[in-house]
Amino acid sequence: VYAINATHDASRRSWVESANAPDTDFPIQNLPLGVFRSDGGRARAGIAIGDQILDLAATLEAGLFAGAAADAAAAATAGPTLNPLMAMGNAASSALRSAASDLLRAGQDRRPPLVPMARAGMHMPAEVGAFTDFLTSVFHTARGGRLTRPDSPVPVNFRHLPIAYNSRASTVRADGAPVRRPNGQYRQADGTIGFGPCRHFDFELELALFVGTGNEMGEPIPLRAAPDHIFGFCLLNDWSARDIQRWEGQPLGPFLAKSAATSISPWVITAEAMAPFRAPAYRRDAGDPPPLPYLSHPTDQAKGHLDLVMEALIHTPGMRAAGAPPVRLTRTNFQHMYWTFAQMLTHHASNGCALRPGDLLASGTVSGPTDDSRACLSELALPADAKERSAFQLGDTDEKRLWLEDGDDIIFRARAERPDFVPIGFGTCRGRVAPSPAWPE
Ligand code: CA
Repeated sequence: VYAINATHDASRRSWVESANAPDTDFPIQNLPLGVFRSDGGRARAGIAIGDQILDLAATLEAGLFAGAAADAAAAATAGPTLNPLMAMGNAASSALRSAASDLLRAGQDRRPPLVPMARAGMHMPAEVGAFTDFLTSVFHTARGGRLTRPDSPVPVNFRHLPIAYNSRASTVRADGAPVRRPNGQYRQADGTIGFGPCRHFDFELELALFVGTGNEMGEPIPLRAAPDHIFGFCLLNDWSARDIQRWEGQPLGPFLAKSAATSISPWVITAEAMAPFRAPAYRRDAGDPPPLPYLSHPTDQAKGHLDLVMEALIHTPGMRAAGAPPVRLTRTNFQHMYWTFAQMLTHHASNGCALRPGDLLASGTVSGPTDDSRACLSELALPADAKERSAFQLGDTDEKRLWLEDGDDIIFRARAERPDFVPIGFGTCRGRVAPSPAWPE
């Protein structure tokens, strides 16, 4: 599953000129899948190439796919989601990737139909039946627990299992639409309980996987087979209402603080596209327990992780009015996560829980050890020795933030780079905070 093949060849270039630009997220070595709509047409599957989209349905209709690639394209374009393709397993998407790479490479004289990204709107790539959010950064957990669990900031179970909760699938969006500040219940400074617009609205920079083939209820997925069930990856913003979360979260965990909205990047970077950017599992401290046997496998230890630089930026109304660019809040790497995605997936199914094609499993906030790799405002506003959070300056602007304000844009990006390979990017995950709706009379 982590094999390098001709589709990763750094010398391969595309006849789509924008795909050869050094800073593009979508060179011919990436070929992520998404669902788009353009010019009043139906929502349909496509592959990103430079600033264009390969229209899979039109390419199939033109007779440019054959064999396994044609079968995969037929599944991808059967409806408005990639679930049927995801259900076919990664050999199918690999055949499609290989055929698309051949059609798009320089020297090819067949010209499949393209749609400019500028003319397309993006939809959810899959119907997400279930969305699970993990908590797998020890740095995020330690910073978050320093004030609330001073005796044990990192819970004792953290190093034994990938902690998670079942979140909400119905409010995941990929279209970049505004995110309304949720209404909710919280405890106020004087101890009284209030209800109204969230006052402590935050983002969480996360990476997520889409499940490919699932498992039958009752049948676990061994760790050695877990990579076969991982279709691909996207960026994910787990918008978080911290005041609501603090009040409602005990003893059962997050509920309404997390379920109002989740934003994802619309292009699914396939597991195969990430093959050149695999990395060893997290190197545990000497005193940490080793993972139990069901969460340990030599291949996962050697290549289970992803070397992926991830960034969060903010673009406030003030910056936009001044014509100023967004300010970077966070620069981190997915390798800081204590558990691999394969370990998360195997643990998820270890009790017999059925995972289905299109299910979304998110990593938790991808915070690293350094101050500049803190991946949410809750951490960014809390200096290492401080007893309480305070507003901090946004770059070298005059603006400060403690929590998100209405009109703030939060933008995520990610990029994988390795010597001898062409870098690939994830596109953007974005959302603008919109005011809370007025409570109905
Ligand atoms: Ca989260």
